[in-house]
Amino acid sequence: MRKFFIFVFSVFLFMSASSAVEADFSQEEGLVLEIFHELLEAVGGDSEKVNITILDISLPGAGFWGNCLEEKTGEFKNGSVTISSGMIGINAKAKMEFPYVTWFTLAHELAHWKLIPVGATCDDLSDILENPEKSRAFELEADREAVRILKKAGLDGKKVAEKALLVFCEEIGKCLEKENSTHPSFTARLANILSVD
Ligand SMILES: [Zn+2]
Repeated sequence: MRKFFIFVFSVFLFMSASSAVEADFSQEEGLVLEIFHELLEAVGGDSEKVNITILDISLPGAGFWGNCLEEKTGEFKNGSVTISSGMIGINAKAKMEFPYVTWFTLAHELAHWKLIPVGATCDDLSDILENPEKSRAFELEADREAVRILKKAGLDGKKVAEKALLVFCEEIGKCLEKENSTHPSFTARLANILSVD
């Protein structure tokens, strides 16, 4: 049995240092926490089971982390959403009137949390991460669930998700053209989002 295991499901992988985005961390922090709590309510979660960490680093990125410390059962217990100030800063960099990137990113990470079945073990989760096909499928599922969560929070989920992906791509100057070992291509993610009923 694995004694200690940390995993991460990301929305976008941390990009190279050349794509750093400066953000006014102190100004953004309150808004990010507000958005997170609204989404947490929409998804029916509570902050004891899933919390948020904002990292003051300029590389755009986000992830959903968890650890497995239940030695007896190996059961997944709780998780943490992480978002960087560089990710949040994309909204201002793109001069957007609404923080689409923050909303979608947090909804996507919370979707990962919601989609982990009750009783799932850390071995189940590592099985997803170690298998590119399963990992990409889980990312697409998280994108679709994010659209639904945004809708529950009273937003146009498809619009928020689509804008966030497009803006991220434009501002960072890098779209994932081909799938990689963890994520589907940008085109596949966009089509998947627009297919949500
Ligand atoms: Zn993800």
